[in-house]
This record gives sequence, C-alpha cells and structure tokens, in this order.
Amino acid sequence: MDFTDPSASALYEAVVRSGGDLVVGLDFDGTLAPIVEDPTRAHVHPEVPDLLVALSEVVRGVAVVTGRPVRQALALGDLDQVGSRINDLHRSFLVLGQYGNERWTAVDRRVVSPRPPAGLAGFLREVPSLVRRAGAPDAYVEPKGLAVALHTRRLDDPAGSFARLLPLVTDAAARHGLAVEPGRLVVEVRAPGMHKGLSVRRLAEEWSAKGFLFAGDDLGDVEAFTELRAMRTEGVATMAVCSHGGDGPEELEELADLVVDGPDGVVELLRALVHDLS
Ligand SMILES: [Mg+2]
Repeated sequence: MDFTDPSASALYEAVVRSGGDLVVGLDFDGTLAPIVEDPTRAHVHPEVPDLLVALSEVVRGVAVVTGRPVRQALALGDLDQVGSRINDLHRSFLVLGQYGNERWTAVDRRVVSPRPPAGLAGFLREVPSLVRRAGAPDAYVEPKGLAVALHTRRLDDPAGSFARLLPLVTDAAARHGLAVEPGRLVVEVRAPGMHKGLSVRRLAEEWSAKGFLFAGDDLGDVEAFTELRAMRTEGVATMAVCSHGGDGPEELEELADLVVDGPDGVVELLRALVHDLS
C-alpha cells in the first residue's frame, strides 16, 4: 500500500505486525457493498467473498458488523458460503447483525438473537402518523425484527423529508424507551444499549486481539472508531478506515486513520493486507 499520510503508514505497519492476532471488522453497506437506491440489491463487491476467505487464513478472525439483520447480510454477501469455506479451513468468521444484537458464526450457522425490545410494538403503531406529520407518508418502512428503519431515499425530497422526520421519530422513540440510529437518509429505531463499539470490544476480547482494523462508512460506525482509539491506548494496534462514498458523515472521517474510496478502496486495502500478511 502507498500511503500519502505517514501516520497512516505507521499504523498500518503496526497492524501488519500484529499478524495472526489481528481482527478485521467490516461494515456491510457502503463498505463491502456500494450504496444503492434499493437496499435489497446492495450486493457485495465481486472480489469480497474470495478476499474474506483469504483474509481469514492470515488473521485471527474476520467479522462483518452491520446494522442489517444477519440474514440479509448473509444473502447479499454470499456470506453463508464464505462462512462454510472459512470453517473448512478451521479459521474464524462471524457476522454480527443489528449492530451486534444478532450473532451468526461460521461454526454454528444459526442466528442467535434477543427478543424484540418492549417499546417497539407501540412505536410501530405510531409510524403511520409520524410519517404523515413529517409530510413523508410514502417513506419506506423496513421492519427488521428487533428494529424498524424509515428510509426517505426514494421520496421526491429525500433530504427535506428526512430533516422533518428525524425529530419526530427521535421524540417518539424516546417515549417508547428506544434508541435512534440516524444514517444516510435513513433512521433506525431500536433497543438502546448496543452499538458497534461494544461489538468491537467484545470481538477483541473473544479473539484476544493484539491488532484491530475496522472499516465503516456511516454514523453507526462512529462508536467502533471511538472504541479503536481507546484500545490503542491499551496497546492494541488499531486502524480505523473510513470508506468514503461521497456523502458520508464528516464526524466519521475526522475519527478515521485512513480514508479510502468506497468499497473499491476497501477491497484494495484488504488485498494489500492479505499480501503483506502472507
Ligand atoms: Mg455502512
């Protein structure tokens, strides 16, 4: 890898030195798969499946950590197949869905999930009136089992609709004891107390990580980046990689050690990592 920033280069070298004790965590949308109009068609970059298998052979473990339900990520990423190939190699791969609330491992190959949060049913009953009041009655409502996501991407005025909807949703979520997770033209309402930062921390503990590289592109990845900073002060070699797709949040870029050009850039970095660790 050619790094223009010398500090990124030094962090990358430290991550490479952690070798077989390195954990790689990867967000799904905007990181492994391009952001598309229809989220049910967000298929991974074509090189991703082989790359994940190759990566698993040279690091301690590979995890996909996403806001999506596990089953969607498995289907869109061909990750079930990736998991069985990695399992055949006796290496470690898992998928954490809904920010870590759902867990799927290549060994067990089933989704372990808590019950939906208590306030979710009451919140769902309010959704039709919320979207009407926001002037966004046609917002796409995506039930996710443990959460619900409201998308304005396909509306005539996506940004305006989102700006009107967000405060109404935030208020209603709070009344039902739920947390909001705003993203790009989407807000998700879910149980409080779980985020990608916690997922990163638990992965590091589970796999006794001496290095941790995490790549993400959106607000939901901020906690993961923050956790990596904390882990670095504890002596873990960490690298936070922002997959920049053009309209990602500045907040994430500011926390990033390296900014790459969307899923193509992530793939290039992972390819280099496999090469440098082999
Ligand atoms: Mg993402």
